[in-house]
Amino acid sequence: MSEAKQSKEQYDKLLARIRLARPETTTIMEDRLKLPEPRTMVSGKKTYWINFIEFPNILRRDPTEFLNYFRSQLAINASIENGRAIFMGRPDKHSFSALVDRYLKERVICPVCKSPDTHLEKVKQLVNIVCEACGARSAAK
Ligand SMILES: [Zn+2]
Repeated sequence: MSEAKQSKEQYDKLLARIRLARPETTTIMEDRLKLPEPRTMVSGKKTYWINFIEFPNILRRDPTEFLNYFRSQLAINASIENGRAIFMGRPDKHSFSALVDRYLKERVICPVCKSPDTHLEKVKQLVNIVCEACGARSAAK
């Protein structure tokens, strides 16, 4: 058997295994990433995200990097104060949980093996998701 054919076969076997493992992986991922619901409070023209700091802590992300994602997605200025994030505006309440989900997809979950055990690596202007489970490096959006 040629080497190329052999590695193709190994690859197919691997793919089959990944497909089988996938539903389970999702459950594990959800079990391990116990994220709370974002608790927010509007006061005047500001929105306080009260349990903000829990999110970067659980996700092992830099709080400023995490906040900047929301700032740019919502196009609202924001700052961190005593573990809370204060947004200078009143975005829709549901946009916080929707953006948390999107952040997970774009900057936490490894696109290759779906593991949440990743960290970000910045190379010049590019941000990579580096997976600690499978070693894959994927471009973050
Ligand atoms: Zn991975």
